[in-house]
Amino acid sequence: MIYLKTDEEIELMYEANQLVGKTLGELAKHIAPGVSTLQLDKIAEEFIRDNGAVPAFLGYAGFPNSICTSVNEQVVHGIPSSKMILKEGDVISIDCGTVLNGFVGDSAYTFCVGEVTPEVMSLLKTTKESLYLGIQRAVEGHRLGDIGNAVQTYCESHRYSVVRELVGHGIGRKMHEEPEVPNYGRRGCGSLLRSGMCICIEPMINMGSKNVVFEKDGWTVRTKDRKPSAHFEHCIAIRPEGPRILSSFQFLEDVLGDKAI
Ligand code: MG
Ligand code: MG
Repeated sequence: MIYLKTDEEIELMYEANQLVGKTLGELAKHIAPGVSTLQLDKIAEEFIRDNGAVPAFLGYAGFPNSICTSVNEQVVHGIPSSKMILKEGDVISIDCGTVLNGFVGDSAYTFCVGEVTPEVMSLLKTTKESLYLGIQRAVEGHRLGDIGNAVQTYCESHRYSVVRELVGHGIGRKMHEEPEVPNYGRRGCGSLLRSGMCICIEPMINMGSKNVVFEKDGWTVRTKDRKPSAHFEHCIAIRPEGPRILSSFQFLEDVLGDKAI
C-alpha cells in the first residue's frame, strides 16, 4: 500500500525534513579530527529535541542512538561510539531522522574530515551527483526503475558499484513505507510514480566491489573489501510540477562553504 500525501501532509513532511537539514548543519560545525561519533550523536539529539521534535532513529527496531554514523568502509547504520574517533582524511556518512508533528524526516550526507584523497572526493561527488540524477527522474508517470537506473548507470560509468542489499523507501507517518526505492534497476520497470508519493532516494555507492558485510553488532553494514563507501539521501515529494526536495543540504553547505562537496 503506497500512501499518497495531501498538500497539507507534504507541508508537514517539509517541516520535519527541514529540521533534519538544520541538524546536519549543526553537526557540520563539529565534524573534525579528534571528535567521537558519540559526541556528534549527543549534539544531534539535543538539537532535535530543542526544536520540539524527536529523533526518529532512537529506539527504531532497537537502534541505540539518534543518528547513524558510518565511517570510511562503513556503508550505513554505523552506531555512534566514544571509541570511534574521527581522524584527518576520514569520510563519515551521517544519516539523521526526525519526527515532527507526526511525520518523519530522513536525510543523509557524507562529510569529509579535513582533507581527503582525490580518489575519495571523486567517489563522494559522483554519489551526490547520482542522487540528483535520480531525483530528476522522480516524475509523475515515470516508474521506480527509472530512478534506480539513473543512479546505477551514472555510478557504474565512473566504475563504482551500487550496493544491492539496502535501498531507499517510501516515507510519511512511518520512516519506512512502501515502496522500496532501489539504486539500481531498469527503465520503465517497477511501480508507477504518482503525485503525492513521498520517497527517500539514497544512493549507497562503493569505490570497490558492491559486496557488503553485516557486522556482528547487528547494525553496521560495511564493504566486504573494506574500500570506502559514500551515501547521500534526500526525501522528496512527487508533485504535478515535478519532484520537490523536502530535505536540505543548504544548512550544512552554508557551514562548510567552499569545502562542501
Ligand atoms: Mg536515512
Ligand atoms: Mg532513508
